[in-house]
Amino acid sequence: MKLFRILGAAAVGAIMAGGALAQTVGVSWSNFQEERWKTDEAAIKAALEAAGATYISADAQSSSAKQLSDIESLIAQGVDALIILAQDASAIKPAVDAAADEGIPVIAYDRLIDDPRAFYLTFDNKQVGRIQAAMVLREAPSGNYVMIKGSPTDPNADFLREGQGEVLQGPIQAGYINIVAEAYTDGWLPANAQRNMEQILTANDNKVDAVVASNDGTAGGVVAALMAQGLGGIPVSGQDGDHAALNRVAKGLQTVSVWKDARELGRNAGEIAVALAKGGDMSTIEGAQRWGSPSGNQIWSKFLAPLAITENNLSVVVDAGWISKDELCQGVTNGPAPCN
Ligand code: BGC
Repeated sequence: MKLFRILGAAAVGAIMAGGALAQTVGVSWSNFQEERWKTDEAAIKAALEAAGATYISADAQSSSAKQLSDIESLIAQGVDALIILAQDASAIKPAVDAAADEGIPVIAYDRLIDDPRAFYLTFDNKQVGRIQAAMVLREAPSGNYVMIKGSPTDPNADFLREGQGEVLQGPIQAGYINIVAEAYTDGWLPANAQRNMEQILTANDNKVDAVVASNDGTAGGVVAALMAQGLGGIPVSGQDGDHAALNRVAKGLQTVSVWKDARELGRNAGEIAVALAKGGDMSTIEGAQRWGSPSGNQIWSKFLAPLAITENNLSVVVDAGWISKDELCQGVTNGPAPCN
């Protein structure tokens, strides 16, 4: 057979024995705007390397159109599995069709692709939202709230908002809390969050007591807008454990950064990609569960658990090797441990 002549007996034997041939995994990134994605990338690369697999990638630079051609090109390069961080949950659908046509398994990385052909690997985003609201509520049990949401093309924005809503529902009904404004943040861009926050402050004569912001990038924009009005220090939430955000927590300028250890998500993605590339069934992935999506699909999913980082447990991220104490505590005087 031709394959035999090209590869030789040993390689053909290896293929038959279940794929000792190196797998190639293609990762399609939406962008690298947030600090976390380089951490995710390093973890995916390390996991693939450990499995003897090859990493190739493309950066869509926030363009959902470029992401489609990126994925076409990854498929043309012969990937055995795809990991996709979708820029736009609807626009990505043709890419899943293209992969399915070629029998290439797909992992929806961090952000849902509402299609049962894609394995969904993420943190529990509703739980992230619950933690954000709960930590802000602890500091501001009453008053005027602003909800700064994520990108409208990212399903995580609404999962987060749902979790936040669950926590705030009671105090709202009891009349303690009033949501005076809420806004999506196009492209998750901190500058857009800042502009939205500025407009909301103006429209409300600065009568804002707390801000539930959906990630650390948007929290940065929010805090800049607050500080410009002398409101720095009111409760603000975030997520990702961005170094600048953890420093704000140490300084008392941000209440919580919900930490999702991107190193764990990346490692899982690399391992799952290799398992699926070798023909493994989604149901056999450790920790996989069937999950009902918003559109009613039953999707094989794996959810990792997020953790609140506040002024009370900043040592956790230092001890985990996520950030150095120097960086965490830069410019902090009389701060919480370990910055004191
Ligand atoms: C991720 C967040 C991230 C945001 C912007 C969301 O889908 O879950 O961790 O901050 O996208 O990239």
